[in-house]
Amino acid sequence: MALVTMKEMLADARARHYCVAAFDVSNYEMARNVVDVAAEERSPVILMALKNDLDNGGLKYLSAICKIAAESIDVPVAVHLDHAVDFDLIKDVNDAGVTSVMFDGSTLPFEENAAKTKEVVDYAHKFGVTVEAELGHVTTAINGADETGSGQAMADAKDPDDCLTNPKDVEKFVEITNVDALAVAVGTVHGVYVSRPKMAFDRLKEINAISKAPLVLHGGSGTPDEDIVKCIELGVSKINIFSEILCAYNTALKDSLNHLGNLSSWPCVTFKEANEAQRAMIRNKIRLFGSNNKG
Ligand SMILES: [Zn+2]
Repeated sequence: MALVTMKEMLADARARHYCVAAFDVSNYEMARNVVDVAAEERSPVILMALKNDLDNGGLKYLSAICKIAAESIDVPVAVHLDHAVDFDLIKDVNDAGVTSVMFDGSTLPFEENAAKTKEVVDYAHKFGVTVEAELGHVTTAINGADETGSGQAMADAKDPDDCLTNPKDVEKFVEITNVDALAVAVGTVHGVYVSRPKMAFDRLKEINAISKAPLVLHGGSGTPDEDIVKCIELGVSKINIFSEILCAYNTALKDSLNHLGNLSSWPCVTFKEANEAQRAMIRNKIRLFGSNNKG
């Protein structure tokens, strides 16, 4: 069955008060790890791709892998383009058959973000494709990988509170754009945390009461479990994870390579522990988000 739109998936999550885990996947192994665990956990799940992995012909391969992975299991799976800033890329992934896209106009002024998001929504809805947008701006941690692929700290290093979503903007933004899901900035950041995030729970509660669109949290990796649980209680329906499944994989791989006696060993041997570590992390997130046995 399983390829569905993100819109219907998030509507169910919002109605039944759980959250769908959305994992950025860069290759076959990651896609396979996500859908295999989702099937075992009977959990809806979202496979996401980022521009860096779609460049240089990657789109053709990664979109095909994700679609095959989605269609191979009998729980709902959405295939999503994460953090697109380029309309041409959105058109290309639409042609490749994704079920949802995120247009990221979060660094633009409100009016421009709303106008460009509306343009993407008007286009994508013609094809039944779900659109996520971002209001406020989820910044990037100082070190480690991040979902935007830059790995850079914010150049201007301004007060992070300046980037939080303003609840007063939410109703107007959703009304203008007709967007299907809304990513909000309430204290999480992309990448690997260097200190505990300062969560704006009151703001999140206020936004959820206003927003007609289900809410999305970026920068889920490394956010303390109790903060994640509270965000879900306050209405977040989708949380993005990337850095944490990379860390789990790379930590195990580093250990495996250090103990590898035979340098001609097959990949199924070399990467075995790394994949197991990544699957364990995916399972932890699915259970923490309460989406197990919801698919
Ligand atoms: Zn993000």
